[in-house]
Amino acid sequence: MGLTEGRGPKTVWNNPAEIIRVLAPEDPVMVFDPAVLRATAQRFLRGFPGLVTYAVKSNPDKAIIRTLAAAGVKGFDVASPYEIDLIGRLAPHAARHYHNPVRARAEIAHGVAAGVKSWSVDSWSELEKLFQRVPSENCEISPRFKLPVSGAAYDFGSKFGASPELAAELLRAVADRGYIPSLTFHPGTQCGDPQAWESYITTAARICDMAGVKARRLNVGGGFPSHRVQAIAPDLTTIFELIDSATEAAFGADRPELVCEPGRGMCADAFALITRVKAVRDGAAVFLNDGVYGGLTELPQIGNLDRLQVLTPEGTPRAGVPTPRTVFGPTCDSLDRLPGEIDLPANIQEGDYLIFQGAGAYSTVTNTRFNGFGQMAHLSVRSLS
Ligand SMILES: *Cc1c(COP(=O)(O)O)cnc(C)c1O
Repeated sequence: MGLTEGRGPKTVWNNPAEIIRVLAPEDPVMVFDPAVLRATAQRFLRGFPGLVTYAVKSNPDKAIIRTLAAAGVKGFDVASPYEIDLIGRLAPHAARHYHNPVRARAEIAHGVAAGVKSWSVDSWSELEKLFQRVPSENCEISPRFKLPVSGAAYDFGSKFGASPELAAELLRAVADRGYIPSLTFHPGTQCGDPQAWESYITTAARICDMAGVKARRLNVGGGFPSHRVQAIAPDLTTIFELIDSATEAAFGADRPELVCEPGRGMCADAFALITRVKAVRDGAAVFLNDGVYGGLTELPQIGNLDRLQVLTPEGTPRAGVPTPRTVFGPTCDSLDRLPGEIDLPANIQEGDYLIFQGAGAYSTVTNTRFNGFGQMAHLSVRSLS
């Protein structure tokens, strides 16, 4: 609202500091640097030894989908009829992998009608539903399996994933019914430990042996980390190499084609969230105009983003001794607080701006209007800093 009106949606700003100086935004602003997204897409397309798809749920912004399709991303991981249709409109030639393993019958029918050819599954009941509605010709069904391995910011296995034994039985049934048999897993989001992929890939080979089935493809999921903490830059190259060598070691000549479906690792670092300091209450707690019901939803689950800058209303850095502060969001809910304490300049003031770098994943899409907050502008920049 407001910020893009009269300027046209195509306005591109130089950087967040310019936005702050010129617009003095009162509401949070999510800024997008398409060049960073293109560069990340190239890192995946050149480095990953297989097909790169994008997990739409992490950020379904149209500009992202279009930028990725133009950069050469040829597939998307979708989880709902809405996402299926979104990709159908924005990237009509791309493959859609319907990798939400539990679906209503009406959702399955929607996917079939839309021409979806790849499905995941983690149970007999859901596989039966697919058998009833999905034609076998040229359709791939991928049992999704899980392992009790950690390494990620939180465990995805608590909701989805069959045991390796069940996955082997499902894989056998998929092949027997004439579908293309493949396998998939998700090591957990923001997975900092590349060994997690190795354990899963080794198990995938064991599942194929148990089933007596050669998997056409192995989808190694998302989980690729973004740059959330200053001191820990993600090392995608190491992860790609490990995935490649683990596949070679586990499968040898029977190597399946690989697929990945990054969400966070693709989009997060192409965005920064500009928030404003509403108040420094009696010189202590900092209240922002955005919080855990807005663009910072994830932080209580997976920890703070510590790539922060504090700018004055003139757009210059606020230099001050880093001092731990309690940081609250704007709603009247006491859960609306960033975890722990955050180091901010001792002289931070009401009206200053706090910029969170790397805020593009699971942020705009989970923003709510709780308590009447959550109005968020979206602007493009030539540089995020
Ligand atoms: C959410 C999700 C992803 C993306 O996960 P990230 O951790 O954001 O990379 C990939 N695949 C599936 C099936 C998902 O549900």
